[in-house]
Amino acid sequence: MHDPIRRATKIVATLGPASTDPDTLERLILAGVNVVRVNFSHGEAAEHVAAVERVREIAARLGRDIGVLADLQGPKIRIGRFESGRIHLEVGDRFVFDLDCELGDAGRVGLDYPELINDVKAGDTLMLNDGRLTMRVDRVTERTIECEVTRRGDLSDRKGINRLGGGLSAPALTSKDMADIATAVDLEADFIAVSFPKNAADMYMARELARARGGKARMIAKIERFEAIGALEEILDASDGIMVARGDLAVEVGDAAVPALQKRMIRMARERNKLAITATQMMESMISEPVPTRAEVSDVANAVLDGTDAVMLSAETAAGRYPVETVEAMARVCLEADQSQRVPLDAEFLNRKFTRIDQSIAMSALFIAHHLGVKAIVALTQSGATALWMSRLDSGVPIYALTPEEASLRRMTLYREVHPYLMVPGAREREATLREAEERLLEAGVVARGDLVVITVGDPIGKAGGTNSLTIVRIGEHGQ
Ligand code: PGA
Ligand code: MN
Repeated sequence: MHDPIRRATKIVATLGPASTDPDTLERLILAGVNVVRVNFSHGEAAEHVAAVERVREIAARLGRDIGVLADLQGPKIRIGRFESGRIHLEVGDRFVFDLDCELGDAGRVGLDYPELINDVKAGDTLMLNDGRLTMRVDRVTERTIECEVTRRGDLSDRKGINRLGGGLSAPALTSKDMADIATAVDLEADFIAVSFPKNAADMYMARELARARGGKARMIAKIERFEAIGALEEILDASDGIMVARGDLAVEVGDAAVPALQKRMIRMARERNKLAITATQMMESMISEPVPTRAEVSDVANAVLDGTDAVMLSAETAAGRYPVETVEAMARVCLEADQSQRVPLDAEFLNRKFTRIDQSIAMSALFIAHHLGVKAIVALTQSGATALWMSRLDSGVPIYALTPEEASLRRMTLYREVHPYLMVPGAREREATLREAEERLLEAGVVARGDLVVITVGDPIGKAGGTNSLTIVRIGEHGQ
């Protein structure tokens, strides 16, 4: 069954024409979507705002908590348009990118980023349409890049262009991105994904823009540039999480390098207390088919085994024929993969040094949960920080995070193994808070009377980063 209460790995679904009518949205949420992605590469700001409002209305009616990820377009370099909309090129054909070309034909097309001319040289390989078609650069002049086609294919209006090996100088945030950050803040996005960051500075800039407008969104760096791989540590330090953006990344580093990079990126993110989303073509064939391929099933399961917080759907839910079936299939695969590998806390766990009190409590809760075999970990958390620490290691025990903060609740929708619940805000005594937490979980049906759970809590209650104690209780027997 697609049990959103037991599934540890989260699902991010991109909204688009195939998924924004209320009926489909409702079915997507019931099928297990945890976070919706609004993709600023397509559509107008007003459409994104309307879609997010609709999602929140439906989620509230269904009693589900859904996070919102606003994905910026970034400086994706694109070719211009063709007179006929589409051309076909064969290996050996000559083709020219021409800054003065208005409408392209079989021999030339315009470019939306004139500086590309300064970034390429003879001998470079250009990858078009996510690498489906490739060209070798033969000659670069003031206004043209002259190429020979080395992999055949179709080319249509506004397709993306990358250079194998990276090195294109386009700035990370375009003026459109800046306007879109404002929209994302105004629609209270929980996450903002920055496309094509090269380094930490790109992430700081995006974060500053969001903060200056009053946004609290967590910042996700999409790792999709060759340069970002070398700067992974500093990018992680500057971000709250990363997206393994396999589409553009494969174009820049070569597709065969991506699987190992995915594992490394997810491991690095978790070690640094950061989030990881694995994205692109996870269920690609389901754009037109009602069942996934064996390879897709394995890909999703392997991302789960790598330790990703979430797996993401792009065109499958934005523009595909079977959006609901895709989420159902993904949820089913995640649930089984979640349960297939319960890596007990490794011996290294014992050698860890902690610097923070809340982190120490979080780690102790994992240790107890693991050895005492409790049914659940319950984190009473203001900011969600304790739940994040806990979810960076696999203890195999579900984490129920209770918070009075809506923003924390919505953010935790992305955290692996964390199931967030809202508590009534307001100060009260510790005993009353613990009892309320138990009741909330009993009512949600996730624990039963007699279950042993470990609860982490801050004293005084209601202070962010204040988790400093831990208690082990049998549900229903507390305070009696
Ligand atoms: P995109 O990013 O869907 O915005 O291109 C993901 C990727 O490149 O894989
Ligand atoms: Mn991309």
